[in-house]
Amino acid sequence: MGTLKIAVQKSGRLSEKSLQLLSDCGIRLSNGERRLKAVSPNFPVEILFLRDDDIPQYVEEGVADAGILGQNEVWEKNKDVTEVKPLGFAGCRLSLAVPKDALYTGPDFFNNRKVATSYPVILQKYFDENNINAQIETISGSVEIAPAIGLADGIFDIVSTGSTLQINGLKEVEQVIKSEAVLIANKTLTPEKQEILDKLLFRIQSVRNAAENKYILLNAPNESVAEISRILPGMKSPTVLPLAEEGWSSIHSVIREDTFWDIIDKLKALGAEGILVTNVEKMIL
Ligand code: ATP
Ligand code: MG
Repeated sequence: MGTLKIAVQKSGRLSEKSLQLLSDCGIRLSNGERRLKAVSPNFPVEILFLRDDDIPQYVEEGVADAGILGQNEVWEKNKDVTEVKPLGFAGCRLSLAVPKDALYTGPDFFNNRKVATSYPVILQKYFDENNINAQIETISGSVEIAPAIGLADGIFDIVSTGSTLQINGLKEVEQVIKSEAVLIANKTLTPEKQEILDKLLFRIQSVRNAAENKYILLNAPNESVAEISRILPGMKSPTVLPLAEEGWSSIHSVIREDTFWDIIDKLKALGAEGILVTNVEKMIL
């Protein structure tokens, strides 16, 4: 059987979480040191450690079969690759920002102005779509200092909390795109490699389902069981077991993390007691 070559960021914000995802998928890596590559003794993949900027090109050319990187980098590089699956980490947005005291009334502000960025392709597309004629200054790092040193009137950069903008006396004025980590793949994988990719995707899906769900156990008076079962549908329907104490049942189910607090309040109102909530490690639907 062949091997699927997966490129991950060598060192940076994505490295740790990319390797964690593979580990959560049960893929062990022989060579713990991140040198150039690592192989797995229990899954047919080889990991290539590369700069994230280079990953789209390598995947397009087939040097790597797949890669994990930010969507922002995929869109900026504009290579001919498939976005297979968003991965739910490294969430951020790419925004336009201007000096705090600038009089900003809308995107027209940028007409005939200079904007510094490391993402000229994405920014030019935005300006074209909004009929704005701005000058883009492409720089590779420390974009946020550009207005203070007189290089530009505004910047276009990654924002997550906004604290970097604040420190540099800037305010976010337009959110242009949202981005998260994504699995990309070469457009023409051999059937063998496609099969490995599909197996990997199945595992990633199980890990992500699990992360989004909690396992819940509780005790409830029998007269509330029907109503509680409606609130806690679970994967098929909840498991209901009689308790030794007359008139009471134990209910087991799965709930989505994001509905958790709402549901807990309703359950308490229905007389639920001894509510236990635990993490789910893998979840196969
Ligand atoms: P280099 O290429 O020099 O390693 P980089 O800026 O490309 O630097 P990182 O800073 O590690 O690399 O960022 C990698 C990716 O992580 C970005 O392309 C983006 O998708 C995501 N990211 C960057 N900054 C943040 C942030 N503050 N919050 C969340 N995700 C971020
Ligand atoms: Mg980079």
